[in-house]
Order: sequence, then structure tokens, then C-alpha cells
Amino acid sequence: MSPRRVSWVADDVWGAMIVTGRALAAALVLCGLGAASCGTTGGADPGRDRVPAPAAAATAAQPTTGEATGVAPGAASESAPTPTAARKPLSGKIVVIDPGHNGQNYRHSAEINKQVDVLTQRKACDTTGTATANGYSEAAFTWDVSQRLDKILKSRGAKVVLTRRDNNGVGPCITQRAAIGNKAKANAAISVHADGASPANHGFHVIIPKKIGGPVDPVVKDSEELGIDVRNALKRGTGLSYSTYIGKAALDYRNDLGGLNLSTVPKIFVECGNMKNPTEAAKFQQAAFRQRIALSLANGLQQYLTH
Ligand SMILES: [Zn+2]
Repeated sequence: MSPRRVSWVADDVWGAMIVTGRALAAALVLCGLGAASCGTTGGADPGRDRVPAPAAAATAAQPTTGEATGVAPGAASESAPTPTAARKPLSGKIVVIDPGHNGQNYRHSAEINKQVDVLTQRKACDTTGTATANGYSEAAFTWDVSQRLDKILKSRGAKVVLTRRDNNGVGPCITQRAAIGNKAKANAAISVHADGASPANHGFHVIIPKKIGGPVDPVVKDSEELGIDVRNALKRGTGLSYSTYIGKAALDYRNDLGGLNLSTVPKIFVECGNMKNPTEAAKFQQAAFRQRIALSLANGLQQYLTH
């Protein structure tokens, strides 16, 4: 474990504990006990040779109290080292977060149904997104997770740009969502979604762009690496299963999404689970669980941005 990784863990989860040898031991014990949370799932998928995220134990042990930065309340103590610039692992990195859909899309069908060119086809400028059976909307979910992710990434030193300001508006169009990432020259961009499949289906998946003979082609490989890192971190940090109904080992490669086809920066979509599945719908409505998702996404992004 490098000094940088130690300080990263201390920053985000373990606070002052990490300055003692006991903390490292505790992390190792935790990892050992929570084997399912620390190991990678086997199988012939592209993630096998990727280095796991740096703080497997920290992710698994992250408090579910809704703290924006993942720092346990009261974790700081007089024994904590003085913060330094070196403790901001994402300094100089630009991340664009695209919270899927928007809270008022359903009131503006003409506007969001306007057809736009996504290079492989024409499709609606945006959609309403899905919702749980009891009416918790995907737009609200993606907005909340994205805000949490924004806070965590900023606490680690990243510059963050969101593609919308709140959950009370319309759009922007998928073409614009891609353009925002491009204009920001993001080191990584992530579009946050949740799926609306049949209720028996469950699990999360990550969507990775394919080459289309277009602007995304040069970043397809990097996007795949980003996707694998986020996939690994999400599995480890949330305990959610890989999708039972889409992709292979939670990776799905597509060429029909404008947000990916038009991106000139490494970009993925994450479908955090199935909002129509009762178990996942219940989890998504817990703030603490949304925090776990956000922290996991941050860890995956950080792994990609710092390896
Ligand atoms: Zn969506």
C-alpha cells in the first residue's frame, strides 16, 4: 500500500485511525471477513486484469449515515496528521457528472421528444426516465446520487461539472449532455441512471461505448477501463449484484446512446439497478444507500483517474 493510498483512505473513511498500525490491521481484517466485498467475481470478463480500487475495505466499511464525504462522524481526532495538498488525490482532474433525465421532463413531452441526431440513429432529445412502483422517480434518484458524488469528488480535489442545475427543469438534450463533457475536457464523464425492467430482474450494469466511426472512437478503450473500474467499485461498495438481464458481468456495450456516441472524453453510463424490482427500489429510497452508491462511484472514478 503506497503512502498515497494510505492518505486516501484516511481522508475519506478512516480518519485518524489510519495513522496507527492498528488501522491497517483493521482494514485487512475487515477485508478478510467480508470476502464477498473485497474479492472480484471470477469469470472471463475484461475486468479480470484490472487492479481493484484502492480502498476495498474502506468502501465496504463506509458508514451509511449520509455523510457527504464518507467520513465517519467524529472520526477526526487530535492524532490526525495535518492535511496537505498530497491528500487530495483528484487535484487537477475534471469530472463531468450527468444525472439522467430531469424532474419536469414528463410535463414537456414535445420538447423532450424532439428528434436529435446521435450519429447511429435519430432519437428523442431526452426521456422521462423510469420510477419505482410507489412513484420515486429515476430523475430524483439520479439527481440525489449525483449531488452526493459531486461532494465526494470535490472533497478529493476534483473539479466537477454537472449537466443540470437541479431536478426541477427539462433536459438538457442528450446531445447537450455529451457536449458539456466535451467542452469541460473532462478526464472522465459518468451518466447516472437506474433501469426500469420487469420486476423479477435485478442488479446493476455499466454501459460502455462502441466504435461507430465517429467522435467517440478514440475514447472507447479508456471508457472501457473507466467502466470496469466503476463496475468493480460498485460491486464491492454496494453489494448489489451484476445485472441478471443485461450485459456480461455487468458490462454492456452499446452504440445507440447519444450521450456516448457524441462524447470525445472517456464516458460511461451506470444503471444502478432496476427501480421496478421491489428490493432494489427499497434500497434506492434510502439516503444511506444512495450515499454508498455515490461513494462507490467516486472510488471507481478515482481508481480510473489515478492508475
Ligand atoms: Zn435513465
